[in-house]
Amino acid sequence: MEIHVMADCLFCRIIRGEVPSKKVYEDEHTLAFDDINPQAPTHVLVIPKKHIAGLKEAGSDDAELVGYCHLAAAEIARQRSIENGYRTVLNVGPGAGQSVFHMHVHLLGGRALHWPPG
Ligand code: 5GP
Ligand code: ZN
Repeated sequence: MEIHVMADCLFCRIIRGEVPSKKVYEDEHTLAFDDINPQAPTHVLVIPKKHIAGLKEAGSDDAELVGYCHLAAAEIARQRSIENGYRTVLNVGPGAGQSVFHMHVHLLGGRALHWPPG
């Protein structure tokens, strides 16, 4: 049997309501909540309700979920009127700063964003 929910995963615990979060969006496939340590006026994390450790662990079965997370981020950006410029980011692996191993799209906006990122 495939396991989609991880008992000890922080973001699975947020999905189950065991860890509080400030929810900003939810649909059948995704949940979005404010990052606890925001790096921009809008810093939202969009996660699939299914546990996937990260982008490199996602399989072709997860293609729609990866897409849904990005479309949810775009919808939140629309609702917040930050469409002049926002960024969606996946940190993939510890070397890129991934610290929570439940895939999440960072939505950053509401200020000038520079390129390249650090
Ligand atoms: P990563 O470093 O894996 O790309 O991103 C993890 C993000 O999760 C970080 O930006 C961090 O601030 C955020 N985070 C860590 N623990 C919590 C928590 O308990 N609640 C919320 N809302 N965000 C968290
Ligand atoms: Zn999880």
